[in-house]
Amino acid sequence: MEKDQGKEKRREKESAIRVQKGADQPSGINDEAVKKYRKFRKKTRSPEEYFEGIRQGNTMILSQAITLVESSLPVHQEFAARLVELCLPHSGHSIRTGITGIPGVGKSTFIETLGLGILEQDHRLAVLAIDPSSERSGGSILGDKTRMEQLSVHPRSFIRPSPSAGSLGGVARKTRETIILCEAAGFDTIFIETVGVGQSETMVHSMVDFFLLLMLAGAGDELQGIKRGIMEMADMIAITKADGNNRDRAEIARREYENALHLFPVPPSGWLPRVVTCSAFKPDTVMQIWDQVNEYVSLTRENGYFDFRRTEQARYWMHEFIREQLNNRFYHHPVIREKMEELERQVRSKQITSFQAARILMELYEQLEKKK
Ligand code: GDP
Repeated sequence: MEKDQGKEKRREKESAIRVQKGADQPSGINDEAVKKYRKFRKKTRSPEEYFEGIRQGNTMILSQAITLVESSLPVHQEFAARLVELCLPHSGHSIRTGITGIPGVGKSTFIETLGLGILEQDHRLAVLAIDPSSERSGGSILGDKTRMEQLSVHPRSFIRPSPSAGSLGGVARKTRETIILCEAAGFDTIFIETVGVGQSETMVHSMVDFFLLLMLAGAGDELQGIKRGIMEMADMIAITKADGNNRDRAEIARREYENALHLFPVPPSGWLPRVVTCSAFKPDTVMQIWDQVNEYVSLTRENGYFDFRRTEQARYWMHEFIREQLNNRFYHHPVIREKMEELERQVRSKQITSFQAARILMELYEQLEKKK
C-alpha cells in the first residue's frame, strides 16, 4: 500500500501537467484532461518504465510505446512526448535508409534479402513503413500481403507497418519519433519503406541518410510515373528483377537512367548518384548495394555532409512540428469550427470571397488566443 502511494507520488512528480502544491490552478489546465491523464497513468507503466524496457531491447514494450506515439489521444501524446524526450539522447546512432518504388517493383522481396544479409553481419534491423494509400483508400498497399516472412520472425529484426490514420504530415512525425525509439532500443540499421506514388517521398527523404529508389526495367513507360523530383532526391537507383530474361532489359534501363541522372547538378553531398541493377534472388547483387550505402556513409561522414544533413533535418522537423501543432489548434478549436462551417456556406454561395473568409477566421482565432 505504502509502496503504491510512493509510486503514485512519483508519478505525480513526473507528470508534465501537475500543479505545484500551494500554487493556484492556472486557467490553462483542463480538469477533465488531468483526470483522464491520471486514470491513464494509473493503469499504464510510467514513461521511465517504458524507457527501461526499450533500452533493454524489449520489442514488445517497444511496440506498445510506438502505439502510444501513433495515438492521437492527448493523454497518449503527452506520455509519448516524455518518452521520446528520454530516448532522444540515446538516438542517432543508426544508418537510416529510405527505400521507395511503385507497388510490384519488388520492395519487400528486396528488403527481405538485404535485411537477412545485414542481420548476418550481426546488426539489428528495424523496418518501418509509410503508406500514403492507407489513409485515402482505407486499405493499404504495404500491409495487405504477408511480407518479409523470414525477416519478420528474426530475433534481431523489428518490422512495423505504417501508422494507419492521420495526415501524411502526422504520419511522418510519428515515423520520425518511432525512429528515435528504435534507435534507443539498439537498432543500428533502419529502413523506411514507402510506396513510390508521389507524396511521401519528400517526407521520407527528410528523415533518412540515404535514399534508394527501386525501379523496373522495360515497364513500357518512361519513368513509371516517378516524377523527376523523386529521381533527383535519390542517392541511388536500383533496377530490380535483373535475372533470367530480364537481365538485358535491366542493363538497358540502367544506362538510360544513368544518362538521365547526368543531367542533374552534382548534389551537395559530393556523392554522384549511381544506377545499378540487382535481383532479390541473387543476394550478392543486393549486398553490393549495401556496400555502396556504407561507402556513401563513410564519404559523407568525412566531408561533413552526414552531420549537416541530420542537422538540417532536425531544423526542418522543428518547423514541421510547429506547423502541425498550429494547424491542429486552429482547426480543432470549437469556436473556429463552428464559424468555419458558416463561412464555408457563404463562400459557396459567393456571398464573400475565400480570402475574406480566411481573414475573418484568422482574426477570430487571434482574439480567442488573446483571451486565454
Ligand atoms: P512490392 O510491392 O514492391 O513490395 O513488391 P514485391 O516484393 O511484393 O514483389 C512483387 C513481385 O515481384 C513478387 O511476385 C515477387 O516474387 C517478384 N519479385 C520481387 N523481386 C524479384 C526479383 O528480383 N526477380 C524476379 N524475377 N522477381 C521478383
